[in-house]
Amino acid sequence: MRDFSADPSPLALNTATLGHNMDGRGAGWSPERLIDACAARGFGGIVFWRREIGGRAVEIGNRVRDAGMAVTGLCRAPFLVGPMAPKGRSAVMGDFCAAIDMAAGLGAPVLTIVVGGVEPGTRGVVESLKRVTDRVAEAAPYAAARGVKLALEPLNPVYGGDRSCLTTTRDALDICDAIGAPNLGVAIDVYHVWWDTDLPRQLARAGTRIFGFHLCDWLADTTDFLLDRGMMGDGVADLRALRAGVEGAGYRGACEVEIFSAKTWWTREPAEVLDVILQRFATVC
Ligand code: ZN
Repeated sequence: MRDFSADPSPLALNTATLGHNMDGRGAGWSPERLIDACAARGFGGIVFWRREIGGRAVEIGNRVRDAGMAVTGLCRAPFLVGPMAPKGRSAVMGDFCAAIDMAAGLGAPVLTIVVGGVEPGTRGVVESLKRVTDRVAEAAPYAAARGVKLALEPLNPVYGGDRSCLTTTRDALDICDAIGAPNLGVAIDVYHVWWDTDLPRQLARAGTRIFGFHLCDWLADTTDFLLDRGMMGDGVADLRALRAGVEGAGYRGACEVEIFSAKTWWTREPAEVLDVILQRFATVC
């Protein structure tokens, strides 16, 4: 395993950690201020959300690189199915392509896909996953032509109904196998997979198809499944074992800190949050 005790360069900040992806939340920092704060601390990368970028993809991407970092990813494609997806297949695909274009403009190598919940009018996940497969298969060549990889992120099963009918790394890899596109893989997020005893086998199966590794922790006494994620080291996830799994499969990419925490970390001074992340990354990840 890589030694992070004195090297923060594999560390990337997902801006959701400072609340930036939610209305009325976050520090209100501009992308420029965020970039400077991360660069000053030795972070290697930043993952933005589309709402922060607007029409400034090329400018912000260049600003990150000028600061000595990389844009390691973009969150995210629209929900492809389910109650929160754009209405109708063509609306979904149009927004999917817009997200791919933004990733290309930023110079982000990976666009994350959270697939959406159970399609209205259906029950269970089988039909919804079929539609997800169909839509990702159509978008994959469009993304490949623009140098963008697509990362399917399975979400914790608590989100199965509305946010992600895709809940296991196994099912994500089954979709990858069915489509067979070289630029299609998975994102492994501690919050979503920490409980899965089948994960080591699936990570070995994934191999070089792991396109992202997301850090946080699962609080044993969590009060909100969406907005009460823990800081690394404060919960019950075996962070070292999870990283050993992804690195054992060959992953050498960024470790992206993604903490949705309305009552705790989003209320703290952002500079302090960044300092805590650095310290935890060096000691418990
Ligand atoms: Zn994630």
